[in-house]
Amino acid sequence: MGASAVSGADGRGPEVAALHPMITRVVRSRVGNHPAAEDLVQETLARVLGAAPRIEPGRLEAYAVTTARNVVASHWREQATHTRHQPRLLDLEEPPSPDEGILSAEDRTAVRAALGTLTADERDLVLAHEVDGVSTRQLATRFNSTPGAVAAQLHRLRARLRAEYLVAASRTEPPTERCRPVLAALAGRDTRRRREVGVDEHLDTCDFCQVVGGSLTIADERRVVVDVATDRDIVDARQAVRRLAAELGFDAADQTLISTAVSEVARNIVKFAERGRVTADPLPDEPGIRVVARDRGPGIPDVERAMRDGFTTYGGLGLGLPGARRLMHTFDVQTRAGQGTTITMTRLRKDPG
Ligand SMILES: [Zn+2]
Repeated sequence: MGASAVSGADGRGPEVAALHPMITRVVRSRVGNHPAAEDLVQETLARVLGAAPRIEPGRLEAYAVTTARNVVASHWREQATHTRHQPRLLDLEEPPSPDEGILSAEDRTAVRAALGTLTADERDLVLAHEVDGVSTRQLATRFNSTPGAVAAQLHRLRARLRAEYLVAASRTEPPTERCRPVLAALAGRDTRRRREVGVDEHLDTCDFCQVVGGSLTIADERRVVVDVATDRDIVDARQAVRRLAAELGFDAADQTLISTAVSEVARNIVKFAERGRVTADPLPDEPGIRVVARDRGPGIPDVERAMRDGFTTYGGLGLGLPGARRLMHTFDVQTRAGQGTTITMTRLRKDPG
């Protein structure tokens, strides 16, 4: 009953980061540039991290070398016995539009419906600028305002129109009162507004906005969204978040720590909830990354126990949620029996130099 939460992380990250180059050297000396090399490095890191609490600091490096060798050896054994990567099932794509004529008629209806939601003044302002080409300066004079204020208002109105257009085109009434503001905040691409409106929290729970707002979120290149249901998806999630971390200026060691944590929360989804979603974003106010793993599975019955070191309910492979927590700066678990689990974790970028 009730949501339980666990937060905080301890400081094992730097130690692990220090091991990364060494582990990479050991693995590469055995597999060269084999595509699996990065996976093997991460697998090694995961195992070392899992064992770290039981190992004296001075012994960690030797333990890591031995583990790297074992991981590589078992990888080859596995390769020899069966093929690991099965071909991906059909990629689902949007069907090609059946009839452009009908679509554009629907488009016009949706645009009319969207404009209909504005007040007469708002409509005049948008149409004067967008259709008649009246400049913001001229509009400012006409409305007794400043060009900057007019531009800002036009920006907000365009975002609202875009959201209303998507709602109208969906031919569905949004399920909650928050959907329209959320879609408008997405369309406006304003980070602060997005936070004020609670866009990310809403998207985690609202299927309507996920679908209708899809074109708006996908266009945001700095947001990673990966649906997770298979082992292959775990790899995709890890790689996508790693790319984002690189774009955000994290160094190679930090990229590995972050993507290893992503592997663990994604694996947790596959093992316990069967399917879920991993998203990652830049932090809005400081250099860093936020990763959210959400599922609608059975929930974690005993979070305190699940977060204890050494606790794994599956085969001992990997470091589980306690390990993921050690790799990140903040770690929060919200879980509810029968409704699912949301894990939110962040890592800050070190100041350069
Ligand atoms: Zn919604």
